[in-house]
Amino acid sequence: MKPLMIKNIEQKDAHSFSIEWNDGLVKEYRLSELQKRCPCAGCVDETTGEQILDPSSVSDDVRASRIVSVGRYAIRIFFTSGCSNGIYSFDFLHAFSY
Ligand SMILES: [Zn+2]
Repeated sequence: MKPLMIKNIEQKDAHSFSIEWNDGLVKEYRLSELQKRCPCAGCVDETTGEQILDPSSVSDDVRASRIVSVGRYAIRIFFTSGCSNGIYSFDFLHAFSY
């Protein structure tokens, strides 16, 4: 199997964007939903996998100020509020569902 890669990222509106994957899948992501699932050590307990972040504390209105790629396997999203430490792997995003 070919490694998962992003062919294209497109901003849909202020609150969501879509990714076209190299296997043909196109998926839309709402920024607030991604932040609610922030995988960083401050939002998820590394040993138990339990969520520390209270999802209701995430603003539905949150936007991205910047999206940068991390190596060839992940992206990092800088949000306008809340936690921006999460590294969102391609595997995670490709499988992401609400
Ligand atoms: Zn976080």
